[in-house]
Amino acid sequence: MYGAVIHAPGDVRYEERDEPTIIEPTDAVIRVVAACVCGSDLWRYRGISPVPQPTPIGHEYCGVVEQVGSAVTTVKPGDFVVGGFNPCDNTCAACRKGATANCLNAAHYSGCQADKLRVPLADGTLVATPGMPDEDLIPSILALSDVMCTGWHAAVSAGVGPSTTVAVVGDGAVGLCAVLAAVQLGAPVVIAMSRHESRQKVATTFGATHIVAERDEAGIAAIKALTDGIGADCVLECVGTEEARAQASGSVRVGGNIGLVGVPHGDLPTDQFFWKNVGIKGGPANCRAYLPHLLELVLARTINPGIVFDLELPLSEIAEAYAAMDERRAIKSLVRPVVQGV
Ligand SMILES: [Zn+2]
Repeated sequence: MYGAVIHAPGDVRYEERDEPTIIEPTDAVIRVVAACVCGSDLWRYRGISPVPQPTPIGHEYCGVVEQVGSAVTTVKPGDFVVGGFNPCDNTCAACRKGATANCLNAAHYSGCQADKLRVPLADGTLVATPGMPDEDLIPSILALSDVMCTGWHAAVSAGVGPSTTVAVVGDGAVGLCAVLAAVQLGAPVVIAMSRHESRQKVATTFGATHIVAERDEAGIAAIKALTDGIGADCVLECVGTEEARAQASGSVRVGGNIGLVGVPHGDLPTDQFFWKNVGIKGGPANCRAYLPHLLELVLARTINPGIVFDLELPLSEIAEAYAAMDERRAIKSLVRPVVQGV
């Protein structure tokens, strides 16, 4: 089988890899139907996070179960499944509290941008759809593997609800999904910060009530002008850079909350948060805890996070899938294995 392997910054290759097999009785092997490139994959692609040796890459997927280990009971061959970016047992003390991103028995994938994939802890990790989903729903189901759950996590962490004003920092796929999450959670004011017309359009489609194109002080002033002069109740930081955190800390009102889901690079300005009485929560999304509800919303066609994919390529063109996102020619790239149905 074939899959994506990162060799060095800027160098992702489509290569032959070993067929995955059942190693533990709790494993499943799935045939990947669709996978995608994550903003966090770009940290390695850009050389910001190190690549010590050629490594299979990718952590977002949906597909069809081919084999299960002897201990797997909740999914079976032929099921269409999606799993979060971090395999978890969904039964340990942390998972039972909904903290599935920090499962006490957490496992890892070995590169999901591939024809096939070994899923550890299959019972805990995978959620099956009732029957085969309609083809047009596959991008939205795939989005639940990471970006939609992460946007949802930002909104839930910041306490977004029916009476809160929300500002979203970041117009990548996670930021756009955070807009969708805030709207779905009933926020009457959802401000998307974006300078790019195509991304503004997605934000508006997702229900953003306002677009702020300015950044820095001008961006903060624009947010305050829309929020009684004090800033947003909830700011969803979906980038991870120091600039984005500065934008978030300037845009949140005193006593407000920041949902922090951009993987942090650089310092966290705790002083600014302290003096403004700002709450900070977030971290990696508890995908597995959110998956059943969000899958229900997708299957009912209530939410359509799949429109964040504006580029679809065969897996063999994985290098271009990365380059397009790196150069911001694409919001998010979806890839499909070249040979389907085997
Ligand atoms: Zn667990």
